[in-house]
Amino acid sequence: MDIHEYQAKEILAKFGVAVPPGALAYSPEQAAYRARELGGNRWIVKAQVHAGGRGKAGGVKLCRSEHEIQDATNEMFGRKLVTHQTGAEGKGIYRVYVEGAVEFTREIYLGLVLDRSSQRVMIVASSEGGMEIEEISAKRPDSIVRSTVEPAVGLQEFQAREIAFSLGIPAALIPQMVRTLQGCYRAFRDLDATMVEINPLVITADNRILALDAKMTFDGNALFRHPQIAELRDKSQEDPRESRAADRGLAYIGLTGNIGCIVNGAGLAMATMDTIKLAGGEPANFLDIGGGATPERVAKAFRLVMSDENVEAILVNIFAGINRCDWVAEGVVQALTANPVDVPVIVRLSGTNVEEGQKILAKSGLPIIRANTLMEAAERAVTAWKNDRKQNTRMRAI
Ligand code: ADP
Ligand code: MG
Repeated sequence: MDIHEYQAKEILAKFGVAVPPGALAYSPEQAAYRARELGGNRWIVKAQVHAGGRGKAGGVKLCRSEHEIQDATNEMFGRKLVTHQTGAEGKGIYRVYVEGAVEFTREIYLGLVLDRSSQRVMIVASSEGGMEIEEISAKRPDSIVRSTVEPAVGLQEFQAREIAFSLGIPAALIPQMVRTLQGCYRAFRDLDATMVEINPLVITADNRILALDAKMTFDGNALFRHPQIAELRDKSQEDPRESRAADRGLAYIGLTGNIGCIVNGAGLAMATMDTIKLAGGEPANFLDIGGGATPERVAKAFRLVMSDENVEAILVNIFAGINRCDWVAEGVVQALTANPVDVPVIVRLSGTNVEEGQKILAKSGLPIIRANTLMEAAERAVTAWKNDRKQNTRMRAI
C-alpha cells in the first residue's frame, strides 16, 4: 500500500529524519492560509498523489506570494496529474502540501528496498539525487552505493558512516546522515514497509540534511498489525477495480485488454495472461482467486471481472490440486445462473476430479466453451471474443 508524501514525512520525522516545515491543504484558500501560518516568503506547493515524477509534470510549484499559491493550487485541484508513473489516466489531486522552500547545495538519492536475492533490506544511495533512480542507473551507475543490512543487528553506525563516506558527505554532517539512515531503516523495519525512498535528500545552504521528498510503501499482508498505517489508505489514488478486489480479499490487477481472467494461483494467472497474448488477445486483468476456489469466491470473481466494462470474454483457468474441479464447476454454474453474463465464457479445468467437473459444466445447459489445455483455452477465448465482437458490430449496424 502506498501513502502520500506528507504522511511519509510525518512518519519518518518521528524516526529522526529531518524534514522542512510543511502543512496540508484541501483548497486553494486553505493552502494560502497555511503558507501564512508557516511564515517565510517562498513556498513549494506539492500535489499529493501516489506517484513520483510530479515535478516534471507540473505537480510541484515554487510560489513567492499567497496570490501565487492560490493560482498554483487553483490550477492543481480537481485535475488529474499525469506523470511517467501514473499511466495516461493520471491521478486525481485532492490535497496539496505547502512547504517552506529550502535552498540546497547538493541532492542525494536514498532508497531502502527489499533485496530478494540476499533476502535483506538493501540501502541504495547515490550522490546524483534529483534524477529518478532508473535514470541514475542508466547515466551514472558508478555513483550508486549499495549496502545490505544484517537483520539480527540492524543498521549499525559504522555501516551508516561507510555509506555517508562513499557519498562524499562532509565530515561535520556525518552524524546527521547516520541519524537519517538509521531512522529510515527503523521506520522500514518497525512498520513492515517494502520501500522507503527519499529523493532528493539535500544538504541545505545552512548545512543541514533534509528530506525534501519522501515515499513509503507498505506490505499489504502486514497491515493488520499496523492500524495507524492502514488508515492512511487513500482509495482516491487506487484503480477502483483494484480497491473493490482488495476489499473482497482477491488479488487483482486491472489491465487494458478485453479478455477477463479468473485463475487460481498467481503463477498460473501469469501464464494465462502470457498465453492469451500468444494467441493474439490482450488480458483485461490479473486475478488470482486463491487455492480454495469456492462457489462464493468464483461468483465474486465473475462480478469483479464483469465490472470492468472493457471485458468482452472471460477465461476461467483452474488447476485443482487440493481444490476439486467439480466444486469449481459448481461455482461457475452457480455464478452464471445467478448473474448471467453477456460475453463468451471459456472454462479450462485440470487436476483433481476433472471428469466430474466437465460433466457438471456440460449438464448445466449454459453456453460455456470448454477447453482441455491452456493453449486451447486461450485460442478459444480469443476466437470467441473476435466472433462476438463481429456479431455485435453487425447488430449495431442493423
Ligand atoms: P517528485 O519526485 O514527485 O518530482 P519532489 O518532491 O522530489 O517531487 O519535488 C521535485 C523537485 O522539487 C525536487 O527534486 C526538488 O528539487 C524540488 N523541491 C521539492 N521540495 C522542495 C522544497 N521544500 N524546497 C525546495 N525545493 C524543493
Ligand atoms: Mg522526488
